Amino acid sequence: MFGTTLTADPPPPARQPPAYLTFASLTALGLPNATTTRHCPGVASFAEPISAANPVSPFNADAIRTLRVAGLDLTRVSYAKQVHGAEVARAPAGGGFAGAADILVTVEPHAPLAIFTADCLAIVLYDPEVPALAAAHVGWRGTVRGVAQAAVAALGRLGARPERLYAAIAPSIGPCCYEVDEPVTSELARAYPGRWEAWVTPRQAGRVMLDLWTANEALLREAGVDPPRVENPRLCTACHLEMLYSYRRGHRGRLATLAALP
Ligand SMILES: [Zn+2]
Repeated sequence: MFGTTLTADPPPPARQPPAYLTFASLTALGLPNATTTRHCPGVASFAEPISAANPVSPFNADAIRTLRVAGLDLTRVSYAKQVHGAEVARAPAGGGFAGAADILVTVEPHAPLAIFTADCLAIVLYDPEVPALAAAHVGWRGTVRGVAQAAVAALGRLGARPERLYAAIAPSIGPCCYEVDEPVTSELARAYPGRWEAWVTPRQAGRVMLDLWTANEALLREAGVDPPRVENPRLCTACHLEMLYSYRRGHRGRLATLAALP
């Protein structure tokens, strides 16, 4: 090294990038929550699939320690093999593998639900009165299959009411970066005739920029969720590669969105 400059003051400490982000609205309600960033240690990547045959938790001791600061006890976390469907699984009482599902629900306090994404939406739904909690994995297929509506309905079966729900949409790919074509547009058109056009911006040659944020906000609203109770930071994974993972940008890391009833 050469050209060293001597200064009287020590250099400012390097700013530590955050290991996780939180939803202000859920935190204000006393609901422990977090979405991990790429700087969170101990979260398994997509190279380590979650399945019935792999009973190992996707969170190791480093993640357990890091997320404890957010009020989340990952020794009791539940997670599923996410299959881009709209099936609901009740979280096991002691946590662990919940089966193949894209919607997890619980009424158990202090038992986190985890959804893994890297462009898809993770949606958290909370009724403080029951109390009851859901976490859902929603990509374009999940949007077509009605995951947001199914999550609201699943909480309803646990005694929740749509108008009491608070919702939060985790960092995910935005309309700035999500170009799609067939078969996405035809399946959207089939599922939501006359409505899906409001969720896309046409590009050339039949391609469109898809806004899954606006689509799922609309679907939550139609399911009875009050729009001011939906928090969506509109943080695009593909625009924030320094902090997040984007599958479309070639990452295989997972972001984990977690929440637990108080
Ligand atoms: Zn973007």
